[in-house]
Amino acid sequence: MKKILVANRGEIALRVMRTARKMGIPVVAVFSEADRNAPHVRFADEAVLIGPPPSNQSYLRAEHLIEVAKSRGVDAIHPGYGFLSENSRFAELCEANGITFIGPSAFSIEIMGSKLAAKDAVKGYNIPMVPGVDHSISDPAEAKAVAQSVGFPILIKASAGGGGKGMRVVHKEEELEEQMARAISEATSAFGDGSVFIEKYIDSPRHIEIQVLADSHDNVLYLFERECSVQRRHQKVIEEAPSAILTPEVRQAMGEAAVKVARAAKYLGAGTVEFLVDRSLNFYFLEMNTRLQVEHPVTELITGLDLVEQQIRIARGEALTIRQEDLKIQGHAIELRVYAEDPLNNFLPSVGNLSVYRKPEGEHIRVDDGFEEGMDIPIYYDPMIAKLCAFGMNREAAIRRMLEAIEQYRIEGVATTLPFGKFVFQHPAFISGDFDTHFVQKYFTPEVIAQESNEEAEVAARLSLQLYKLNQATLTVPNPGAPDWGVHR
Ligand code: ADP
Repeated sequence: MKKILVANRGEIALRVMRTARKMGIPVVAVFSEADRNAPHVRFADEAVLIGPPPSNQSYLRAEHLIEVAKSRGVDAIHPGYGFLSENSRFAELCEANGITFIGPSAFSIEIMGSKLAAKDAVKGYNIPMVPGVDHSISDPAEAKAVAQSVGFPILIKASAGGGGKGMRVVHKEEELEEQMARAISEATSAFGDGSVFIEKYIDSPRHIEIQVLADSHDNVLYLFERECSVQRRHQKVIEEAPSAILTPEVRQAMGEAAVKVARAAKYLGAGTVEFLVDRSLNFYFLEMNTRLQVEHPVTELITGLDLVEQQIRIARGEALTIRQEDLKIQGHAIELRVYAEDPLNNFLPSVGNLSVYRKPEGEHIRVDDGFEEGMDIPIYYDPMIAKLCAFGMNREAAIRRMLEAIEQYRIEGVATTLPFGKFVFQHPAFISGDFDTHFVQKYFTPEVIAQESNEEAEVAARLSLQLYKLNQATLTVPNPGAPDWGVHR
């Protein structure tokens, strides 16, 4: 591999480039007009402007990116996450142009890109699935029969869905027909594919996923789990590894199931197999994500592996040098996604200028970011500012370190999820490990943060008053004739 183009922006572009540089491979950055001054552009060996800010005119222009790659002598493209990372046509285009796509084949992406095709592919492998149907359903009478047999509540899901979109919970039979019509029309307009199916709505579910690595020599490994149950709008905000609830037996069973899923998809590279886990630790296959996940650092922290390095090595055709037996969980890692979002206002994006930006530093703290003080958070892209990770020898130590890091993180100019993180990491349910995907719904109200910031404001106000009084006292007009006049104290 002579030169890698990173077809992405922000923290993940920078994160990928760092590993490429460590491996001695030159990197090419691409950037839109909104990202001219971004750190990933300055970090790269070469950088190419690819168009105006909207992603469909820049980061999503597959053909154009291939042209850029060819003109710069690039022989491999890393897609990061989001954008073109799970676009099978892009993977195909790379291949057709003699460029290595650092990721799985177009075939694997395509199968796992459709929740129904994925269920179908893993059918013969004895993987536990959520009760429901494994085919597209549009007839309300059939839907009713399925719902009755699995029992309410049920979840209607779009086969082409992603990012938590296209899902509807139905609690009662009377609501079924209407909700189904809505789900179909939503799926059609959002994904251009109206296929929906039905799953039992798992009560008190935890979202636990397994990281896998597969090489081209028939080796597939599992790198343990990530617990991603703290979500808002069915989207992750906090992740940790390992999960506080898995037993070694369940961990191994889930790991082995994930390896089977990867084999069923003829997988290559780093991928994630997502499961739902119920209160009795039964697990059910949800889907496979065929890319590097946002939350991959927690796995790196507990295994000591660099997943991007592994991706690059696998893409170069190298065989994995680690065996399953060599892998051990060491310590505990937690990640908070620091989004420019306002937790006081339903987590709505809060874009603007980072007038103050100072990140925490120190042992066992890792910050993956792509911004600097004074930069604008553009409205065009995902509003994630950084991933804040903390490591500890055990869960308690990792939580403590995380809280210290949050205290040190200074961001002004936009609202962020930092105060939300502080709330979660201090919450008894999180600390005890007894929580599920309804954590936010159950425990979080904006008032808890508002109240805290009021208390902080009060403390700050009292403190400044004290300081003011103190200064007043020291600054009282000196007597020029006094013996200590002019002495600084
Ligand atoms: P997407 O591809 O949109 O992210 P997923 O299938 O991965 O959709 O599900 C996202 C989240 O929705 C899960 O993490 C979980 O919180 C919830 N969810 C999905 N399926 C079920 C189910 N059958 N029962 C309960 N919750 C579910």
